[in-house]
Amino acid sequence: FNPVYSDRAESIFPTMSKLARKVGAINLGQGFPDEDGPLAIREAAAQAIIDGPNQYVPVEGTPELREAVARDNKRFYGLDIDPMSETLVVSGATEGLAAAFQGLLVPGDEAVLLAPFYESYAPQIEAAGGVIRFVDLEPPSWRLDAKALEAAITAKTKLIVINTPHNPLGKVMSMAELEIVADAARRHDLYVVCDEVYERLVFDGERHVPLMTLPGMRERAIRIGSAGKSFSLTGFRIGYVTASAPLITALMKAHTHLAYTSPGAIETAVAAGLNLGDDYFENFAADMQGKRDLFASGLAAAGFETLACEGTYFITVDIRSVGRDDDTAFCKEITEKAKVAAVPISAFYHPSQTGAPRYYARFCFCKRPDVLEEASRRLKAYF
Ligand code: PMP
Ligand code: GLN
Repeated sequence: FNPVYSDRAESIFPTMSKLARKVGAINLGQGFPDEDGPLAIREAAAQAIIDGPNQYVPVEGTPELREAVARDNKRFYGLDIDPMSETLVVSGATEGLAAAFQGLLVPGDEAVLLAPFYESYAPQIEAAGGVIRFVDLEPPSWRLDAKALEAAITAKTKLIVINTPHNPLGKVMSMAELEIVADAARRHDLYVVCDEVYERLVFDGERHVPLMTLPGMRERAIRIGSAGKSFSLTGFRIGYVTASAPLITALMKAHTHLAYTSPGAIETAVAAGLNLGDDYFENFAADMQGKRDLFASGLAAAGFETLACEGTYFITVDIRSVGRDDDTAFCKEITEKAKVAAVPISAFYHPSQTGAPRYYARFCFCKRPDVLEEASRRLKAYF
């Protein structure tokens, strides 16, 4: 078997979800909403399954969805994107990331990851023959340091991966941090894979800024979005990539042999989602911000120190505030005893990064208010 996969522990998400089910815990580990997204999108999906398309659609995605992706780029970021040469529909951001790494990396090429990072990046890069260089973000601000990034770049570096808003940290990259990445990409002639799946979940009146909007980044950035995250339909498995035409061609060729096409009827429904009015997106972020605030106050009442959460589904706690010092043991303990599941931040590091911090855990708050209140009560009763 390929050790890239077979030597790795099982993903932390199914591991914690299984344990949560077994012991009857509220699952605030794996990130998925407990309420499905807009009925209008689900109705559009049902109708499209009746009316078609139900056969292979174009490899790049349906023209309807690609046009909606281009319009979305214009509406939110002022980007002028040609739908037919600069967008690609993929089977979830996960497949888009795999297509990016397989399409761009030649064995031996180096990729820079900012740690902690979403767990699929490392095996996907390694399976593509890439070599990873890590830049550790230092808690509790997790700010990107320009010198640390520079030190990770070599003559073999082909790309940097960024993720903003960030899973697991809930951090939104500042303009200064985006400038650091853009500056390095320009000087070293690099691509930047931009995981922007939480682009619609930025709080406190702030706005998401794609790296692609910075000078010189239009040709270098590969911007990946997810219908799962933007419409609370994680099982739809549709993502979308925006990039310059040569990059889209490179990814499309990898996508052809990974997924071939994505489901056309679901693409029709996602296009309807991207065409929703501004109020859907405003309410979506405001609603999630309310959940963050509700659960953050529950965590505080239980005695936890929480770190800043500027976006996403996730909030980080410092487990030392409740007298613990091993995040993996902590997550198991609270799942089994307090009956609330979380995931350890150390799982978002590469297995070789043995010095990863072990004092942080991630809770997912994209759940109904009554669920968050019950989880808060359980944690307060336990600690
Ligand atoms: N990137 C990040 C940062 C994520 O959190 C997720 C979803 N868990 C993905 C990518 C994958 O998204 P999708 O479900 O669209 O494959
Ligand atoms: N992205 C989700 C999370 O971080 C889970 C996705 C998955 O289970 N692969 O929790």
